[in-house]
Amino acid sequence: MSEAVADTVAGAVAERFTELYGAEPHGVWAAPGRVNLIGEHTDYNDGFVMPFALPHKAVAAVSRREDGVLRLHSADVEGGVTELRLDDLSPESDKNWTAYPAGVVWALREAGHAVTGADVHLSSTVPSGAGLSSSAALEVVVALALNDLFSLGLRGWQLARLCQRAENVYVGAPVGIMDQTASACCEAGHALFLDTRDLSQRQIPFDLAAEGMRLLVVDTQVKHSHSEGEYGKRRAGCEKGAALLGVDALRDVPYAELDAALARLGDEEEVRRLVRHIVTENERVERVVSLLESGDTRAIGPILIEGHASLRDDFRISCPELDLVVDTALTSGALGARMTGGGFGGSAIVLAEETDVDAITKAVTEAFSAAGFTSPRVFEAVPSAGARRVR
Ligand code: ADP
Ligand code: MG
Repeated sequence: MSEAVADTVAGAVAERFTELYGAEPHGVWAAPGRVNLIGEHTDYNDGFVMPFALPHKAVAAVSRREDGVLRLHSADVEGGVTELRLDDLSPESDKNWTAYPAGVVWALREAGHAVTGADVHLSSTVPSGAGLSSSAALEVVVALALNDLFSLGLRGWQLARLCQRAENVYVGAPVGIMDQTASACCEAGHALFLDTRDLSQRQIPFDLAAEGMRLLVVDTQVKHSHSEGEYGKRRAGCEKGAALLGVDALRDVPYAELDAALARLGDEEEVRRLVRHIVTENERVERVVSLLESGDTRAIGPILIEGHASLRDDFRISCPELDLVVDTALTSGALGARMTGGGFGGSAIVLAEETDVDAITKAVTEAFSAAGFTSPRVFEAVPSAGARRVR
């Protein structure tokens, strides 16, 4: 999104805020959704991930209040303003969208930060439930606004930790740290190489357009109903693997020692598969980082393909729609493709030469139609800026 367009969006959100609350907002902030280039399900194993920010973002107009009241409104949800008292906020008490921003306020206060209330109106272009982190965008935009309005002085990674706590404890969703950190810390034209153990990070140049390539996101628009239960099973399986191998997290199993580790797991076939995915996936992230840093961008294609095979065959979280995107894209000339996000639906990414984009998009759309699947949403993902104040 160009700066001019971003400013128009910020203006519209501020105007709606003024209509709702009767005074102009103290400021307007934006926080993006993300796509993960490589490093899937590694974030709850203390491993490596490599997301980049989308141009799609949540934009929030916010004013501070001193009276212990939090008022929330979303342009994207039916219904009026929700009014909450800060003293009443309690974990897992709210099953609505308001739990995300309220959870952020709760987490900030729990951590001892003097947040005394706020009025919030927000609007988001991050598709909800597509695996592109609309929830983290919502949390981070509110956290950044409160950080500024209450002069909390927290850094991006600290806000990300608090947002994760909001989602884990207040909303009640056992998510890792990647989404919030990506939304808070990504930079335009870069992917973020993040070590989820200590949150150390490096911005890796990832400007595909300059090299004649594109990255497509294909949102399958499906979410299979068993996805949450399966996510829990994968997490538990990874923890079991770490325990059997006597390490704190699977991150601590070096790639060079994978075969020995698998041998030690004996006939625990399910755990062996999970361990193999996590250990090889961390190694794939490191390979992608070194290729991008040495300017060999096209060479990451085969690593994306390997990653998909590992998620499909070892981690077993793909689904027919995601496999169809990947297979069709590859037979239509893509450099690489893989599912991204939690799995069992959501989105896939496709790396392609600029000149092949139209043919790939057409082929995927036709393949979905032939298979009787809902038509996918395809868009180009330009690595964009992380959360920031826009007004
Ligand atoms: P994802 O983060 O992959 O998009 P989640 O299930 O984690 O999916 O988060 C989606 C939830 O976030 C929605 O059900 C809704 O509660 C909330 N949400 C996302 N976008 C908005 C929005 N624009 N307005 C209000 N709530 C939103
Ligand atoms: Mg989410």
